[in-house]
Amino acid sequence: MTSSCETSRQCGDCTLCCKIMEIEQLDKPAQTWCRHCRPRHGCAIYQTRPIECVDFRCLWLSNVQLDDSWKPSRAKLVLTMSADGVEVRCDPGFPEAWRRPPYEAQIREWARRGEDNDVTVLVIIGRRMILITPGQDFDLGEVGRDERIVREFEGTHVVGVRVVKADPARDA
Ligand code: SF4
Ligand code: SF4
Repeated sequence: MTSSCETSRQCGDCTLCCKIMEIEQLDKPAQTWCRHCRPRHGCAIYQTRPIECVDFRCLWLSNVQLDDSWKPSRAKLVLTMSADGVEVRCDPGFPEAWRRPPYEAQIREWARRGEDNDVTVLVIIGRRMILITPGQDFDLGEVGRDERIVREFEGTHVVGVRVVKADPARDA
């Protein structure tokens, strides 16, 4: 984070992932500034930052199809990919950031396109999660670390969502 990378894009003055993302190696919870971050300037321990930070790249940094309106420091959104699909994390100071144009329309378009390919689109505000589908938004409230999201389908349409305790053996 907060670095140049192998793509042509650079983090520049963005340090938003150092606030939004959880860093296990630092016991840093999500949604709080890392104690090593100098907001808008960079990482005070850049040379020795944890491997989680070394490996992290938000989607804006790695995907040139996202134009500069998606730069996290501007959008107040950090986009990442999970095994299930796209995760859109809001800056806690801007919990409605995803609803502003052009973001909401694009997020809904990803959900529409994702339906046929079983790609989910999840908006995350703190621990609150909202599964966006073409038919409706499923506001799941706060989803714990030990919980997971289970979708119910009719064909490719999501018609219901439950949050259940994760099974470590099954979900490993
Ligand atoms: S959110 Fe993306 S652009 Fe911003 S500092 Fe992190 S990796 Fe760089
Ligand atoms: S260690 Fe550095 S790169 Fe990692 S979250 Fe903290 S400030 Fe960001």
